[in-house]
Amino acid sequence: MTYHADEKGYYGEFGGAFIPEMLYPNTEELRQNYIRIMQDPSFGKEFDQLLKDYVGRPTPLYFAERLSGKFNTKIYLKREDLCHTGAHKVNNTIGQILMAKKLGKNRIIAETGAGQHGVATATVCALMGIECVVYMGEIDIARQAPNVARMKMLGAEVRPALSGSRTLKDATNEAIRDWINNPVDTHYIIGSVVGPHPYPDMVARFQSVISKEIRWQLMEKEGRENPDYIVACVGGGSNAAGAYYHYLDNGDVGIIAVEAAGKGVHSGESAATSALGKVGIIHGSKTLLMQTPDGQITEPYSISAGLDYPGVGPMHSHLFKSGRGEFISITDDEAMAAGLMVSKLEGIIPAIETSHAFAILEHRPFRSEDVVVINLSGRGDKDLSTYIDHFKL
Ligand SMILES: *Cc1c(COP(=O)(O)O)cnc(C)c1O
Repeated sequence: MTYHADEKGYYGEFGGAFIPEMLYPNTEELRQNYIRIMQDPSFGKEFDQLLKDYVGRPTPLYFAERLSGKFNTKIYLKREDLCHTGAHKVNNTIGQILMAKKLGKNRIIAETGAGQHGVATATVCALMGIECVVYMGEIDIARQAPNVARMKMLGAEVRPALSGSRTLKDATNEAIRDWINNPVDTHYIIGSVVGPHPYPDMVARFQSVISKEIRWQLMEKEGRENPDYIVACVGGGSNAAGAYYHYLDNGDVGIIAVEAAGKGVHSGESAATSALGKVGIIHGSKTLLMQTPDGQITEPYSISAGLDYPGVGPMHSHLFKSGRGEFISITDDEAMAAGLMVSKLEGIIPAIETSHAFAILEHRPFRSEDVVVINLSGRGDKDLSTYIDHFKL
């Protein structure tokens, strides 16, 4: 029994590649080559070097003493917030830009909702001197001005998606259309463990550096590689996939996934996919997805832009369905309160996405001898105005 993808990109019943025929040559080229390229020593050397010198890895595994005292358990924080650009997303974009180069591509496209993945993509394109086009819904461009400015400073072209609801799914449609029209020179960088095979598996492998480091760091600090629990927030699921990766098939390690309940799981304004989702197809992958009875994708809602996604990656659907993962959903208010608590107790202002992961400490007791690793996926600088509004700071 394994919780990793099989050869066709299935995690149990979830995953696969449900794509228009015209996209087939693109994903097929990637599918046939990605594992070979990732296992090539010269690729690994360049990836590791950039993670070290450019991203700033290894990120610390920090024993959070005051937080541990408050909740009477041993809590370690994996500090992905200290990565260059402020979150884990750059681990994946570094990997994919190197992959694109190996495949002989000289143009990158991406789509972004809140702009975080767009910034991480524009960053690595600047680093490599490669042309970058980021598709973004017209509404999101208006809502996310600072990230649009960042992408422009980094040399990317931000193209508005003007159709439909003018948000993430419309930007995704535009990116797919672009890729169909430019199959030879262009690589499409997807930002989470979503999309058609091989993306979920490829992105999980790039992010797996997180749990690779946790293993030796925990060995140094606790004399054992395995925590009792590993906790992460789930939007599409990439920081969680990276934090779980080397523990997936080890039943001694409890896996906890935290989703956004928005204004309440049953409020009609949430992004709690495991609780509300049904099997469907989104972004070329069969997975759990929030939808109406006749199969239309439901508009998700969360106060945190990174968790505001109507599906989860196929790995997470399988972790949920099989019972391997424990899924907990957290409301906006609970997340915000947890973000403030961690700021005051540890001197670390987390991204609101990550604050959802911290909020489970108020709900879910751990034993005093448990070692609990929380993946601190990003820093809260980008969320300051939301914290200010919420707490009237
Ligand atoms: C984008 C983002 C997330 C959600 O994305 P995943 O693919 O689920 O990891 C979580 N935390 C932060 C800080 C993010 O920027």
